[in-house]
Amino acid sequence: MIETEKLQPAAREIATQRCIESSCGARFEINERLYVCPKCGGLLDVSLEAKARINPQELRETWTSRLTSFDPRDRSGVWRYRELLPFGADAPIVTLAEGNTPLYDAPVSADYCRLGALTLKHQGCNPTGSFKDTGMTAAVTQAVILGARTVVCASTGNTAASLAAYAARARLRCAILVPRGQVSHAKLAQSLDYGAAVLELEGNFDDAMRVIRELAEDESIYLVNSINPFRIEGQKTVAAELLHQREWSVPDHVVMPGGNLGNSSAFGKGFKELKDLGLIDRLPRLSVVQADGAAPFASLFGSDSEMLTPIEHPQTLATAIKIGAPVSWKKALRAVLESGGSVLSVSEQEIADAKAIIGRDGVGCEPASATTVAGIKRLVADGVIETDADVVAVLTGHILKDTDYAINYHQDKLYTHDRAADKTKEERRIAGTFSNPPQRVKATKAAILEGLQRHEGASR
Ligand SMILES: [Zn+2]
Repeated sequence: MIETEKLQPAAREIATQRCIESSCGARFEINERLYVCPKCGGLLDVSLEAKARINPQELRETWTSRLTSFDPRDRSGVWRYRELLPFGADAPIVTLAEGNTPLYDAPVSADYCRLGALTLKHQGCNPTGSFKDTGMTAAVTQAVILGARTVVCASTGNTAASLAAYAARARLRCAILVPRGQVSHAKLAQSLDYGAAVLELEGNFDDAMRVIRELAEDESIYLVNSINPFRIEGQKTVAAELLHQREWSVPDHVVMPGGNLGNSSAFGKGFKELKDLGLIDRLPRLSVVQADGAAPFASLFGSDSEMLTPIEHPQTLATAIKIGAPVSWKKALRAVLESGGSVLSVSEQEIADAKAIIGRDGVGCEPASATTVAGIKRLVADGVIETDADVVAVLTGHILKDTDYAINYHQDKLYTHDRAADKTKEERRIAGTFSNPPQRVKATKAAILEGLQRHEGASR
C-alpha cells in the first residue's frame, strides 16, 4: 500500500479558511473557531494549497487499495479520500463508516424520464439515513480538535439526527434547539435515541438564532450549522466516491435536490478539486432541482438579478428542502455556472409521482430526493438533457425518514399544505398517479390469487 503521508505530508498545515467574497478574500488559520468571515460576514471555504504535488495515478491506486483494508479510516467512504480533507494524519476521527453508498441502475426511472439509462447515487443509505452524515463526520472531528465539549444545531430534521449520532460517537454533549411547536416527530425520534438534549425554545425563529449566536461565544460550545465549512469538506468527498465507483468516467449530468444548497456547493467543490488534481479532465454539468413552493434559487437562476430573494413562507411536503432563505446559494450558484448546469423547480405532483417511480426500481427515498427524477424528466423533455446522456441523480434521504407521505400517496390521501384561502381540499389533493393501495381480502387461497391479479391489473 502507498503511504498517505508520502503523498501529502501535512494536509492540515497547508489548509486555510478563506472568505468566498471576491471583494474580501480574507484568509484565516484552519483552527480558528469561525462561522463566517469576521471581516465582512461572508461564507468561508476551506482551501488546500499545494495539492498539485499529488500524482493522480498514485492517488487512484491508493484509494482503490483502501477498499480491501480494515482500517476504520479506510472503511469510511469519506476518510478513504482523506488526501482531499483539511485534517492531519493524527486527527481524532469520529466515524460511523459513513459514505460507501450505492450507485444503482434505475431502468424504470430512466424510462419515465425518456432516458436510455439513469443511475441513482443513494446518499440516504448513510448511517442515519441521510447525506448529512458525510459532512457531520468532518464537522464533529473538527469539534473534537477544537476541544469543544458540546455541539449545537438548530434543526429537527436530518441535520439534528446526524449530529446527535456523531456527538454520541465522540462522547460530546449535543443540544438540538428548536422553536416551540415546530418539532417534527419523524426525525426527532432519532435524536432522542442518540441521547441528544432536545430543547424546545419559547419564542420564534429569530429568538432561536439570537440564542445560538450567544452560545457560539462560549469556547466549549461548537456550532454545527449549515454554513459550517467542515461539513462541506466532508460532503465533497462524495464526488470522489461517485467517480471512483464509475472508474473515473465523468457523467454528463449530475442532478441534485436543492434546499439550503450546502450539498450542491459541496459536490461542485468536489468535482472542481478532482479536476484541478488531474483525476478527471472535465466537470459534469451540475443541476439543482427545487420544489415550486420553495424555489428562491430557481427564481434567481431564471432572472437577471444578482441577489437571491428569500421566500417568507416556503411550502412543500418535501420537508428536507422546505427552505426559503438558502444560506449557501452563492457557493452553489458558482458551482452550477462553472459546470454549465441549470436550476429549475417542479410541482408537488411531479415530486410525488417521481418518488413512486423511483420506488418501482426497488429504491426508496424521501420526497425531497425525488425532485431529481422529476427535474430530469423535465430537462429531457426540454432538450437540455439528451436522451442518450449519462445522467446521475443524487438521492439525499431514505424512505423511512417520511413514511406518512408514502402511505398517504398510495391511498390517495396526500394533500399539500398550501394555505391559500381560495383552494379547496380537493384542489390541494395530490393524485396517486402510481398509487399502490393495500387491499383487504378473505383468508382463502382464491381470494389471495384474485387480489394478486387485481394488483397486477392496477399496476400496468
Ligand atoms: Zn470576508
